Amino acid sequence: MSCIFCQIAEHQQKTELVYENDRLIAFKDINPKARVHLLIVFKKHVASVNELGKKDEKIVGEMVLTARNLAKEFGVDESGYRLIFNVGRGGGQEVDHLHLHLLGGGWLNNGQPGFTDK
Ligand code: AMP
Ligand code: ZN
Repeated sequence: MSCIFCQIAEHQQKTELVYENDRLIAFKDINPKARVHLLIVFKKHVASVNELGKKDEKIVGEMVLTARNLAKEFGVDESGYRLIFNVGRGGGQEVDHLHLHLLGGGWLNNGQPGFTDK
């Protein structure tokens, strides 16, 4: 059985899709830590930033620019947002399939600078 994000990339799991192309899929986080919490996921199974190769340079840029576009679409580009790659257990990574978190619009209340309103 492939990993949960591979299943989502193959449309075998229901999600709230917000963007898709041949390389990436983006959807709403099932357990949001911010009013806007989206995940931008590389369709190919790469476990984390640690496993990225030179050939993946372009996809990382595309993930960031897709996040930037979605921030605008979801109305948090002006108020501000946070982009996070968690890497490994110590970095808070729970799903071992490369993904970029986009968080914005309030909350993320974990003692760090940023937003709260809840
Ligand atoms: P990370 O801790 O960086 O690996 O982030 C994994 C994220 O995936 C968490 O924020 C989870 O809430 C989210 N997540 C796990 N399963 C699903 C799912 N089926 N649909 C949407 N988000 C999910
Ligand atoms: Zn996977």
